Amino acid sequence: MLFRFTLCLTCVKRQRLTNELRGDVLMDENMQEYFKDILLKRLEELIDEAEKTVAGMTDTEETFPDPTDRATLESDRNFMLRIRDRERKLIVKIREALERIEDGNFGVCELCGDDIGIDRLKARPVTTHCIECKRREEASEKARGT
Ligand SMILES: [Zn+2]
Repeated sequence: MLFRFTLCLTCVKRQRLTNELRGDVLMDENMQEYFKDILLKRLEELIDEAEKTVAGMTDTEETFPDPTDRATLESDRNFMLRIRDRERKLIVKIREALERIEDGNFGVCELCGDDIGIDRLKARPVTTHCIECKRREEASEKARGT
């Protein structure tokens, strides 16, 4: 159980406390593993899609000959530049979410530091804002007419 002590204890304690008060499902190691799994699968799908897009654009069979090249391919700047904007943005978001899992910050709202909530994360694992902050943001966007 060494893993438990490698997480930031203050974050974990704070998160547990607010979760317990609200009666939510706890964001523990199992939950983090669960989201990591989802995110990695989604990342793989996106890279598959992106490969097809790039292969279609260049119209060559040999663009990505070996699936084991995937690791280098993922960090290939040219590759990232050639894929569609929507996919690129999502890949970046998923990578950031994976980094947050490693840092122990996953599931914590960027704006208010509150828990995002397991249900919201299940619907949108890459989100960095809790539902309250998201609502506030959308309301002010509407007010600005964007
Ligand atoms: Zn928030």
